[in-house]
Amino acid sequence: MNTVETIPELRQAIKQLERPLGLVPTMGYLHEGHLSLVRLAREQSASVVTSIFVNPTQFGPNEDLDAYPRDIPKDLALLEAEGVDLVWMPSPEIMYPEGFQSWVDVAEVTQVLEGAQRPGHFRGVTTIVAKLFNAVQPDKAFFGQKDAQQVAVIEQMVRDLDFPLEIVVGPIQREPDGLALSSRNVYLDIEQRKAATVLNRALKAAKASYEAGERSGDVIRQTMTKTIQAEPLAKMQYVSCAHPRSLQELKEIVEDGTLLSMAVFVGKTRLIDNLVLGPNH
Ligand code: AMP
Repeated sequence: MNTVETIPELRQAIKQLERPLGLVPTMGYLHEGHLSLVRLAREQSASVVTSIFVNPTQFGPNEDLDAYPRDIPKDLALLEAEGVDLVWMPSPEIMYPEGFQSWVDVAEVTQVLEGAQRPGHFRGVTTIVAKLFNAVQPDKAFFGQKDAQQVAVIEQMVRDLDFPLEIVVGPIQREPDGLALSSRNVYLDIEQRKAATVLNRALKAAKASYEAGERSGDVIRQTMTKTIQAEPLAKMQYVSCAHPRSLQELKEIVEDGTLLSMAVFVGKTRLIDNLVLGPNH
């Protein structure tokens, strides 16, 4: 496995790789969620490139950029074991040199949910992802359903800006008790870790009510809200029952593919989770 830092080194290394080329963008501190995407990329591509970059422009001023967990030696060992061909680990100065002033801004789909709570977050995401796509020029790029809005935003960007690649989405990987894997789970103490299952419990309660015939968006949102409010260590930021592509809130469930999602604080840790309702999910 080769590791590179600069863009000229990256381009040189990529020339040697067989196509189709799969890219798995990450912020490091890898867990089974990331590795499941690497395996998907391995299955669907002749060569796999993984990027590790904690992108400062997608963090707000009061967010956890400085505290964001990092463990590069462990990440490299995990990626090597998965048969990754090339790891790209640029420094912030390489991605955002002095004088940097070009941004990618996706409009409507970034205004709601995560975008409403984290102003500027998706501008940072789309800008860095566009830069990764331009530098690596992959045939396929792999993203996790864990960040459902991120997927919707990147798919919109790829359509709008004619990026010549395919976006592949991998399913959410969870702990045995339902907590979605996240690099941020290390912030939770033992009590908070138990309370953090409330996100998945709320999604399951909503799904059960859908399966029992409920079709009202308001009732589904209420069901999730009540479950979260019953957990003393959790503080709900939002719950949503929305169209999977436009992300607009729904009055009535759409038959295939309604996206249930939420952001909940457990202590100071902000957790997100989601689930897609419908016969094909
Ligand atoms: P991050 O390092 O948090 O930026 O995540 C890198 C990629 O891994 C993104 O496409 C995430 O959606 C994906 N990912 C993170 N957690 C999970 C998970 N629990 N299951 C599946 N994919 C995930």
